[in-house]
Amino acid sequence: MVETPFKDAHAAASGPVGPVGPVGAVRRRLVLGASAGLVARGALPAVAATHRHAGHSAAPAIVGRAAAPLPLVMLDPGHGGKDPGAIGVSGTYEKHIAEAAATELARQLRASGRYRVAMTRSDDVFIPLEGRVEIAQGQRAALFVSMHADALHDRSVRGASVYTLSSGASDAQTAALARTENDADRFGGPHVHATSPEVQAILASLVTEETRRGSAHMASAVVASFGPRIGLLTHPSRHAAFVVLKSSEIPSVLVEMGFMSNHLDEAALRQAGHRAMVAGAMHDAIDRYFASGPGLAAYAG
Ligand code: ZN
Repeated sequence: MVETPFKDAHAAASGPVGPVGPVGAVRRRLVLGASAGLVARGALPAVAATHRHAGHSAAPAIVGRAAAPLPLVMLDPGHGGKDPGAIGVSGTYEKHIAEAAATELARQLRASGRYRVAMTRSDDVFIPLEGRVEIAQGQRAALFVSMHADALHDRSVRGASVYTLSSGASDAQTAALARTENDADRFGGPHVHATSPEVQAILASLVTEETRRGSAHMASAVVASFGPRIGLLTHPSRHAAFVVLKSSEIPSVLVEMGFMSNHLDEAALRQAGHRAMVAGAMHDAIDRYFASGPGLAAYAG
């Protein structure tokens, strides 16, 4: 059965359904408040409860001095819930691949101790595209990484690729991909409408030059990190009017880890070992991004 390999990854995902940060933060305050009251009466078990919650949260540990907060990386597993995303040649759902890979990347980033990490979804739920952008903006993410494994008409095409926002597409294949991806909102019912091409063009023009530079910098970091270990499309860095990348302030990229329409890519992405390698390359790209160039300016303010 297709879903079985992803149950473990799902169980490993931390945090409640939906955006982790604000809910976790509110809970932590409540727990801290409760524990302060209990500690005043000398009830020690409350301290253990606080620790349990702190370990559960995406936020960094509270230390004695006021250090600058670690940059928040927002991972966005594509699709979810009633939107399966692309369905692979042997029946794998893109939404499961995206969630499993993002969960592994979140684990790696947290283990590094260099980032705070949140996910737009850590469960199999539907979130409209604009809702994903709003989650990232609401939590003041320093970087937004949308993770996908879509399908193309040409089943022979395989390899990873990375996409940034622009009003026009870099090529016909990318234009088709953006159309499919932007169409995810059709699952949201009549109250959620995919943005029209005209509105997308306006939104793209609102993205600041600094954000655009940051996104391009991240895209080249992904290409550099994937190159040695994971197969890339020819001209792997592409652009089109992806709604999910339209945050005006947060550098944003969409990574296609491979294509569900190619049986070799699908088979590879079903393997936890391959997903860990992809996540490792993305971790490396995120390190590169924050170590140099626009990444620094993007979260210094
Ligand atoms: Zn997708």
